[in-house]
Amino acid sequence: MMTNISIQAFKQTRLRLLQQLSPGIAIIPTAPEVVRNRDSHYPYRFDSYFYYLTGFTEPESVLVLIAGKQPKSILFCREKNLEKEIWDGFRYGPEAALTSFEMDETYSIHELDRLLPELMANQQNLYYSWGAYPQWDEKLTGMINHLRSQSRLGMHAPAQTQDIYQILDEMRLIKSADEQAVMRRSASIAAMAHQRAMNFTRPGLFEYEVEAEFLHEFRRHGAQSPAYGSIVAGGANACTLHYHANNCELKSGDLLLIDAGCELDGYASDITRTFPVNGKFSPAQKAVYELVLASQYAAIDSVRVGQHWNAPHEAALQILVQGFKDFGWCHGSVESIIESGSYRQFYMHRTGHWLGLDVHDAGEYKTAAGDWRNLEAGMVTTVEPGCYIRPADNVAEEFWNIGVRIEDDVLVQQNGPEVLSAAAPKSVQQIEDLMRND
Ligand code: CA
Repeated sequence: MMTNISIQAFKQTRLRLLQQLSPGIAIIPTAPEVVRNRDSHYPYRFDSYFYYLTGFTEPESVLVLIAGKQPKSILFCREKNLEKEIWDGFRYGPEAALTSFEMDETYSIHELDRLLPELMANQQNLYYSWGAYPQWDEKLTGMINHLRSQSRLGMHAPAQTQDIYQILDEMRLIKSADEQAVMRRSASIAAMAHQRAMNFTRPGLFEYEVEAEFLHEFRRHGAQSPAYGSIVAGGANACTLHYHANNCELKSGDLLLIDAGCELDGYASDITRTFPVNGKFSPAQKAVYELVLASQYAAIDSVRVGQHWNAPHEAALQILVQGFKDFGWCHGSVESIIESGSYRQFYMHRTGHWLGLDVHDAGEYKTAAGDWRNLEAGMVTTVEPGCYIRPADNVAEEFWNIGVRIEDDVLVQQNGPEVLSAAAPKSVQQIEDLMRND
């Protein structure tokens, strides 16, 4: 797979990383293939860190970077193999990968065991992330021990190891213009799928039939897969936060909550919309929906340079809790309700997470000092307040089993928030107009 991101952009990312490293060697392997059952594998998904630096999507490959006076990018990958390619498809092979991916050197993965110890020998620093892939930990430990045993021959193992993922996490937080463009497209495909679902939904369908509309829309626009297991939750199922069965019949009078996004060239979108199965909100549903929507607008408005990470959550909470008070579900001042946490009966999750190559993307939420970090241009976060009402004595029955979440993908721009998923309808009017069948 060649991606919509230019290979030049991946090279630039490597160079930006190399500039941050002290003299040494960085080793970033891709993910292994995983058996699903007997001889069938899960659809292959490359490692996000490896892909971030290469754009290379084949398994059995590893990127080795030499940092120092003469920085170098070296890719080890599978060899060309006509017979295997007849069965399993195209492979670049080291020769084509050299030019196609703008590497300085490429080798067959079969040469790794011979060449990597030589590349590691006498380097000051080893940049690697222990614990991500046990088979790689084992391989590198073996090589390091071997080098240590060779010290009388003048071969030394790297003196220090640093976690390469920590450095990459910081880089991945700020999306480049190329990444932003792909994420915009990923979100717009997912938004079209949500719109399609609203058009399609009617009482009597099953949740999986609506899920199928998403798969269709994702693939027909070139997204490689869903970014995560789609949640298609009718009625009370919406109050199960990670509902995945998607096997119930949709009933007139219920709401349908759909949390679904796609992965395009490695980049995730993550959108939630909630709408009435029959196309018309009941008064109780509308009241809850409008509250969540108001809290979401307030949260999105605080996704700004200079605000801290938790500002959107705090903004959403102020509005939600005031609403819970007005409904008579929570008592006391807004501050005391937040302080006591009694609002968690209706809102028990946070308002967002970083989004990028991973749905819950890399990057710390707090600074080393323990404060919420400040938002910077190029960061992408979800904004997803909700309200989930299980049957309870302190709530009128007309509200029972209403579950609402509204989630958008928001890019921090210098001049304010850019809602990447804005094309997915979310006002009551927009939704009811779209679903009206007359
Ligand atoms: Ca989500």
